[in-house]
Amino acid sequence: MKQSSGFFPTLREAPKEAEAKSHVLMLRAGLIRQLAAGLYIYLPLGWRALRNVEAIVREEMDAAGAIEVLMPSLQPDLLWKQSGRWDVMGPEMMRLQDRNEREFVLGPTHEEVITSLVASEIRSYRDLPKNLYQIQTKFRDEIRPRFGVVRAREFIMKDGYSFDVDDDGAGVSYQAMYDAYARLFHRCGLTAMPVEADTGVMGGSRSHEFMVPAEIGESEIVSCGACDYRANRELTESSAPESVSSANALPLEEVHTPNQRTIEEVAAFLKVEPASMIKTLIFTDGEKPFVVLMRGDCAVNEIKVAKAVGKPVELASPETIQQVTGAPVGFAGPVGLTGVDVWADLSIKSIGVGVTGANKADYHLKNVAIDRDFTVDRWADLRLAEPGDVCPKCGKGTLSMTLGIEVGHVFVLGTKYSTALNAVYTDEKGERRPMVMGCYGIGVSRTLAAVVEENSDDKGIVWPVTVAPYHVHLLNLSPKSEEVTKASAELYDGLRAAGFSVLLDDRDERPGVKFNDADLLGLPYRVIVGEKGLKSGQIEFVQRKSLEKEPIAPADVIARVKGLYAEELSRFTP
Ligand code: ATP
Ligand code: MG
Repeated sequence: MKQSSGFFPTLREAPKEAEAKSHVLMLRAGLIRQLAAGLYIYLPLGWRALRNVEAIVREEMDAAGAIEVLMPSLQPDLLWKQSGRWDVMGPEMMRLQDRNEREFVLGPTHEEVITSLVASEIRSYRDLPKNLYQIQTKFRDEIRPRFGVVRAREFIMKDGYSFDVDDDGAGVSYQAMYDAYARLFHRCGLTAMPVEADTGVMGGSRSHEFMVPAEIGESEIVSCGACDYRANRELTESSAPESVSSANALPLEEVHTPNQRTIEEVAAFLKVEPASMIKTLIFTDGEKPFVVLMRGDCAVNEIKVAKAVGKPVELASPETIQQVTGAPVGFAGPVGLTGVDVWADLSIKSIGVGVTGANKADYHLKNVAIDRDFTVDRWADLRLAEPGDVCPKCGKGTLSMTLGIEVGHVFVLGTKYSTALNAVYTDEKGERRPMVMGCYGIGVSRTLAAVVEENSDDKGIVWPVTVAPYHVHLLNLSPKSEEVTKASAELYDGLRAAGFSVLLDDRDERPGVKFNDADLLGLPYRVIVGEKGLKSGQIEFVQRKSLEKEPIAPADVIARVKGLYAEELSRFTP
């Protein structure tokens, strides 16, 4: 492709609102342009790179035995009402009506559609297992679209769904997808780590997210320094600290704490450690309020609370807090509370004697003895894991934390959807059973952004050969010179004939502009043809990774590119 006749706009500066490195580079290098919040146009370079990612995903899915289909984005409401998700999905799901006022959704995912298809087409154990996938546009009205195509409102996803006769079968399908994911992300030039993930309040049994470590990552990943434990922070178990006796506690004492509401304020005011305070939070499960007690220096993990309670939960409103405790926000405590369930995190046992709110404006209680002054209905692990915690798996190492971009997710769903949408089969004994499902997602467009995020330097993108929109950037430094243009054309044809894709910069621009753009675009191999070099028989070859220039005879260029390409490709193929 000739740069002069193609469509390759670059920007010297990125728009101010672009915060993420990948977002800045994708705009500057002319990969994408924003149409509206969370909606992006792919320009030719971005589209080529995206299709390379897609091709890798497709190859690995096909190799793992998954079968490609294509489902409509537009889905009738009925299926969502049958699965119960019409209400659960809330405003993130884009909804619309047709001319007859029938309701539809723009699919955020396709469990309902695929399950209804399988329910009507597959009846016997003989036709199972099946694993179906598609690569298609999804719609989600994200509250906060950000970081370019990392979190968009319209994006490209690979979504796959497996159907098995039983849990064992589903485990085999799951493992095949897990392995395929590890391979395909590696082929894209990504360090994607599988981490144990939450399976949600609604069930499901096994789940891993594939995370690419990155500053802009929105997921917190916890890993052990001593063993292979790696999990989403939300999921990480916390071990119980040692209990401390409260046998010698002094009598309860009310203390005046005017306007001291937070743990930090009260701790400083009373000159006590946050770790000796009993943080008292009021939650609601949608029907009734309940209390969660947490040691003052620890944070509550809402996902653990939801799992313990068995329902989605949220922090109660100031009005509810007033009703439950009789005091405004900031003065709640477990002593004397009635009519609500009290859950306590195991960390509370290590307080012994502590400080907590008095359920009275501007007052706290001192000398609160854990096993004297209040009762706990349920003890549980409700704490958010912190860096430095002891590893819950090996019990030896300590945990550290990194941020990651979730590029993929594999999940054993069980029979939730097959039961709701009647995807049943007849087994060998003639009995009807629900199929056991798994679902497997990859954010294809997010993966492209992650590739850029992980593969760049201060000058621009540094594409892995597998995803690069072109393999070679051929710079004709003197498009007005007949010899240079002829030599460039010969190299162009030769490289293409050898199977490489080539972007020929034949624009009438200064060399400096061409070099800067070439650094920004980041194609793996650069061949520079100038008048001087051509005369001496030595033009220049540059690998984008190192940016080191080496002299090369025009006749040696193809062999050099072939050699490097083969070497690099072997690194990307596990
Ligand atoms: P997130 O927690 O980032 O919102 P999710 O759990 O909602 O992700 P899934 O429903 O599992 O995501 O979707 C499968 C994959 O689709 C994700 O792993 C991610 O790579 C991608 N994805 C999800 N939401 C978006 C989005 N708004 N923009 C781009 N890609 C997305
Ligand atoms: Mg989401």
